[in-house]
Amino acid sequence: MLNHVPRLHRCLKCLPPMAILILLQISCDLHASQIRVVATTTMITDAIQQVGGDRVSVEGLMGPGVDPHLYKPAASDVIKLSRGEIIFYNGLLLEGKMAALFSRLSRQGKPVYAVTEGIKRSQLIKPENVSGHWDPHVWGDPRLWAECIRNITETLKRHDAEGSDTYDRRSKRYLKRLDELNAWGKRNVETIQANKRILITSHDAFNYFGKAFGLKVVGVQGISTVTEAPLADIINIVDFIKTHQIPAIFVESSVSPATINRISEDSGTSVGGELFSDALGTPGLMETHDGRSFDLGTYEGWIGHNIATVVRSLQ
Ligand SMILES: [Zn+2]
Repeated sequence: MLNHVPRLHRCLKCLPPMAILILLQISCDLHASQIRVVATTTMITDAIQQVGGDRVSVEGLMGPGVDPHLYKPAASDVIKLSRGEIIFYNGLLLEGKMAALFSRLSRQGKPVYAVTEGIKRSQLIKPENVSGHWDPHVWGDPRLWAECIRNITETLKRHDAEGSDTYDRRSKRYLKRLDELNAWGKRNVETIQANKRILITSHDAFNYFGKAFGLKVVGVQGISTVTEAPLADIINIVDFIKTHQIPAIFVESSVSPATINRISEDSGTSVGGELFSDALGTPGLMETHDGRSFDLGTYEGWIGHNIATVVRSLQ
């Protein structure tokens, strides 16, 4: 909304005083009625913007390239969170170092919501080697992310009943776009030879992505980035790459590339590019793939860039 203010000032000269008062009042109302929302990851920040539009002002704590597993809230984050009227986080222990802060805020009566809360447990993936923990990277599957969008929509409606129609309309339109994106991604992955649809990356951020788009996923570091890959795993993966003649493996935007570079050297396979894992890219940076244009700072850009990078390198 701030963008509208200078324009408003420029045209004030040619308006009668009463109209000026009305316009200023509308401008103030729009500011005053905006709901202050705070979100953790860039994916959630984008989702809230898509659904909320001008009715919400959303502040994201984590920027592009930030790893949510390791993220420790700064003092300024605590201030942002305490000013927010609604707080959204991913949940399923993605923000491992923020859990205590969220439960404290919740006990203090602050509305704190995990966007993954409404997802049926049967749709979640349980990692093989970690017990009592669901894989938190649900945004990899546009249809599961759509559940999170529905969750955000219902929560915003509850807090701002007057905006219900706006939230419903925007949400419906956005979910339709995600449906089309899902179909686009599947069509593209199908162009990779079936036995080459194998995605090897730093950590297991792509289990849902792989399941949604028909790629077998091999992560080197497990579902969190807190621990480094053990040597035995690296040797196994090098063998696996050689046996299956995997044409490329991938580094991730929010994880150190050291292990993947080492595997690339040891196995002789190339690094196929950088995938976005636990964060979106730079807002406003555009890429075009297969006739579609993507803003890398959006969730649609996350899917578009990752699909295109994988398809280009594995074909
Ligand atoms: Zn992760």
